[in-house]
Amino acid sequence: MGSRPVGRPAPRAKGKAAVVTPREERPAYSGPPRAIALTEGVTVKELSDKMPDVKSRDVMKALITRGIMATVNQSLEPKLAVEIAREFGYEASIQSFEEELVQVQAVESKPEDLAPRAPVITVMGHVDHGKTSLLDAIRETSVAAGEAGGITQHIGAYHVDVGQRRVVFLDTPGHEAFTLMRARGAKVTDIVVLVVAADDGVMPQTLEAVDHAKAAGVPIVVAVNKIDKPDAQPDRVRQQLAERGLSPEEWGGTTVFVNVSAKKKTGLDSLLEMLLLVADMQEVKANPKKAAIGTVLEARLDKGRGPVATVLVQDGTLRIGDTVVAGAVAGKIRALVDDRGARLKTAGPSTPVEVLGLPALPEPGDQLLGVTDQLKAQSIVNFRQLKMREKALAASARVRLEDLGRAIAEGQLKELLVVLKADVQGSLEAVADQLNKLPQEKIKVRIIRQGVGAVTEGDVLLAAASNAVVIGFNVRPERKAAEIAERDEVELRLYTIIYDVAAEMKKAMEGLLEPTVREVRLGAAEVRDTFKISKVGTIAGCLVQDGRVTRAAQVRLLRDNVVIHTGKVSSLKRFKDDASEVKAGLECGIGIAGYNDVKPGDVIEFFTTEKVKETLT
Ligand code: GDP
Repeated sequence: MGSRPVGRPAPRAKGKAAVVTPREERPAYSGPPRAIALTEGVTVKELSDKMPDVKSRDVMKALITRGIMATVNQSLEPKLAVEIAREFGYEASIQSFEEELVQVQAVESKPEDLAPRAPVITVMGHVDHGKTSLLDAIRETSVAAGEAGGITQHIGAYHVDVGQRRVVFLDTPGHEAFTLMRARGAKVTDIVVLVVAADDGVMPQTLEAVDHAKAAGVPIVVAVNKIDKPDAQPDRVRQQLAERGLSPEEWGGTTVFVNVSAKKKTGLDSLLEMLLLVADMQEVKANPKKAAIGTVLEARLDKGRGPVATVLVQDGTLRIGDTVVAGAVAGKIRALVDDRGARLKTAGPSTPVEVLGLPALPEPGDQLLGVTDQLKAQSIVNFRQLKMREKALAASARVRLEDLGRAIAEGQLKELLVVLKADVQGSLEAVADQLNKLPQEKIKVRIIRQGVGAVTEGDVLLAAASNAVVIGFNVRPERKAAEIAERDEVELRLYTIIYDVAAEMKKAMEGLLEPTVREVRLGAAEVRDTFKISKVGTIAGCLVQDGRVTRAAQVRLLRDNVVIHTGKVSSLKRFKDDASEVKAGLECGIGIAGYNDVKPGDVIEFFTTEKVKETLT
């Protein structure tokens, strides 16, 4: 905040601009709000330039009435910029620097410049089904048959030539990397290759991978691997996946299945051909003539070469000497190195390259853009670094049920994605049924994953990547899952009454959800032994595992992360004495009011509830 302005501050009038500038200079605008688009980090001068009837001086005055002293070249917080614009009769929308650039480029880009580009593939599937082997096998065959001398180096992605054409593979298999990218808003994959071992069939992570690909809207090609094995049953894999909505083409469906053996290197050519075919159906295209747009896959500090970022160029062309912005880093490209160690002068669409010359490390998932305006690039990066220091970046776009009604009303949200976990199949179906029965005129409720068991890390990551909410019915999150939900601000709601789920979701959709009652977890104790005491009931001999447990808190009894009972503490003792609180690492005796069916191995979780006030921002 700036110092108090000198002199008598102009009186503030609610929402009207007339007070800011004397009437004789500029009459108050009273028409409908005029739309303008602002870019993040907009300066006082840029803001006034966007409003033809407003001078920098006027904006500065409007700031002063808020106690803010700003110079013409000072960047404004997006919210503040919108507020000021509104005061002058403008409805401002804020876009990121990248969005602005991409828009400008889209206008300049001619349709005839669009050319097919190589499809970018992510390999997913259950552990040990051969993802890494398949990636290695494809790479080896292509390099052996390919041009001279390429020392293959792992830079996060590699390309394979198929006749005159090319396919690019991301080198980190599995859905973690895929999810991480998506959670950061980056879409790098055109096709998912789902690897399923023919001897093992469809397994839990196979289905998870299917969920991820579907949530991202990316087509799936199934590689039925290990067909060299005597107990391989490739048709069983087809059958199992057909039951999950991936019906093989050869059976009249739409999903391409290819039998392969990563070990014997068979079927790889047809897999590559099929990938090109699917890519053609998707019309995978880009414009090599414009400035580069890419995504940072990896970034590391190299001893000799300084910061090295592996970037997948997705559109346009990257050239040595280009100025680029990637997240909070801007710099000039000194060198480009491809996945076979060759130096490049340019890198076109669908080229994975190492970019040298950046002054610092961008983050995986950051967009990288070629820019012509170096000053603008620097100012935007400065602004972002400032914001990063303030920790104000990211995460705010998550769906919060409390804001759902508003988001629907403003048309920002058309679909509410849900990850649903429950204790047993019956309750899962009942809750899903309730959710599907909610009125869906204003917003569609779509369950992107449902399953029985605790809320896992994978559930939360899927929700984070898809901007979904997680609903747990009679189940608890695993500790890691709870941590990630907290960190990534994923809305995680736990219920024990089916009616509550439907009622709360309905309220949320109508924008009527009261400020939430949030749970504050105090700690948990593991039951080691139980004692029956006449007239008192069962006392659980416990070890406090983390946090603290208190006499006044509420408790929840968990067996394998499933809620068995929720209630109050009837007694808490250290040895023979009553205790009001027991800390982690200590033993204690716990009685749960009106409940005696405690067993060794159970976990008693302690929590309090607090009302969360609605925040103004
Ligand atoms: P990932 O966990 O999915 O990356 O699986 P890996 O690529 O590490 O493979 C797991 C195991 O399966 C390894 O022992 C591989 O040698 C073996 N394997 C992978 N592909 C094949 C195959 O086509 N045939 C046979 N027989 N074994 C394979």
